[in-house]
Amino acid sequence: LDADEFRRQGRLVVDFIAEYYDRIDDYPVRPAVSPGFLARQLPETAPSQPEHDALAAALRDVRDLILPGLTHWQSPHHFAHFAATASNVGALGEALAAGLNINPFTWAASPAATELEVVVTDWLGKALHVPENLLFSGGGGGGTLLGTSCEAMLCTIVAARDRKLAEIGEERIGDLVVYCSDQTHFSFQKAARIAGIRKGNCRAVATSWETGFTLSPKALLAAVHADVAAGRVPLFLCATVGTTPTAAVDPVRELCAALSGAGHDDVWVHVDAAYAGAACVCPEFRNVIEGVEAADSFSTNPHKWLLANMDCCALWVTRPHALTEALGTDHDVILKDGAADGEAVVVDYKDWQVALSRRFRALKLWLVLRCHGVDGLRAFVRSHVRMAKAFEDMVRDDARFEVPVPRQFALLLRLREKKQRCHDDDAGRVINELNRKLLEAVNATGRAYMSCAVVGGVYVLRCAIGNSLTEERHVQEAWRVVQEQATVILAVVKR
Ligand code: PLP
Repeated sequence: LDADEFRRQGRLVVDFIAEYYDRIDDYPVRPAVSPGFLARQLPETAPSQPEHDALAAALRDVRDLILPGLTHWQSPHHFAHFAATASNVGALGEALAAGLNINPFTWAASPAATELEVVVTDWLGKALHVPENLLFSGGGGGGTLLGTSCEAMLCTIVAARDRKLAEIGEERIGDLVVYCSDQTHFSFQKAARIAGIRKGNCRAVATSWETGFTLSPKALLAAVHADVAAGRVPLFLCATVGTTPTAAVDPVRELCAALSGAGHDDVWVHVDAAYAGAACVCPEFRNVIEGVEAADSFSTNPHKWLLANMDCCALWVTRPHALTEALGTDHDVILKDGAADGEAVVVDYKDWQVALSRRFRALKLWLVLRCHGVDGLRAFVRSHVRMAKAFEDMVRDDARFEVPVPRQFALLLRLREKKQRCHDDDAGRVINELNRKLLEAVNATGRAYMSCAVVGGVYVLRCAIGNSLTEERHVQEAWRVVQEQATVILAVVKR
């Protein structure tokens, strides 16, 4: 580490990134490359000696070799998946954390980093209208910053599992059952498997068009009752606010009430709002997490829609003790450097997560909240919802298309011919195939990049409007691309 050299190199990198953002509109969103394209252009081994002016040379390679092979997630034409929003201060916060390069696994390992995380998770919780019982300031709960929603699910399942096994005996781990819907992100099943839940004991309760692909409390209870009757033990429910395929919102209040009304209020309820949690910054969307005060934990990814660059998942729990009981590691004398030995109660975040080491994520989130303010974040979310509404109007105005389920937030889907609303017959397969071709054609233009989902047997196109650089003109262009490609595809079909 050399401070003067760091200044010089830092300027090179900052200028490089700024130039990239200046020109990002010009790149095709998705690269036209085939597997192995990069390895073929790079040496087989690392250089044994530092190269001459290595950073400048490497940046040239980034420009010439790497950028042409990237999918440009920050492109204003990127409408696939959910956005990974970036901001100046999100990126610079990452740079600041990388520059300081600390490892705040315990309070003592970096007191200010831990305390900033405590403060900033409460700040974010209040900004999102998260109930008091999940916050430090509420007296019982508290939050942490992890990398991903999958980690949030894993840590909370493990906490629930250990609490339950302490009650019924460890030998009954094979009887534990977890619940979700068939729309829940696959990372939940993955987390459950890692936590030792048997593969056959993850119930993905079926959803339908009738309930808008939300989890029905009645269907959940039916599954719970069947498990109890068979001698199994209901452990955990993952409800989703903003599902990945359609942004459906599971009815959190009703699900919690159904469980407790049936005598199962010991089932740990986790609310996964990876994408849509950000919308709660706007009072008009707070209703989507109505009832979350009855849940045990809640998580959202500020890196998706709140300008905090990758990666950042905020997890709040009502009882941090349940997490630390399961994930705490008290026996390592090396980490006992005195700070937590006194009277004061401190947070040791290593006991809230899987690994010991951790990143200083609080810094960038703190910068985002300070530099944009809650009002700024509201304006950001609202601008996307407004653009999505405009896009929806354009889709509805074209008789060849339909919006298959009510639009939620900034997510729009299914562009498909209206005539046949058939799901699994031949005509249904044909129209699914047309839509698949349409998506392929749209993405091949490089002028828009969307993704797909299959809901209720129907193939739909997902257009998730939520990138930092996306403006109305980009949305209009995306719609033009879809219309043009649909015209070509339908003309071929008619021939
Ligand atoms: N939950 C939902 C609703 C998601 O949409 C996603 C990813 O898009 C995830 C969970 C997984 O998130 P992560 O990659 O942070 O684990």
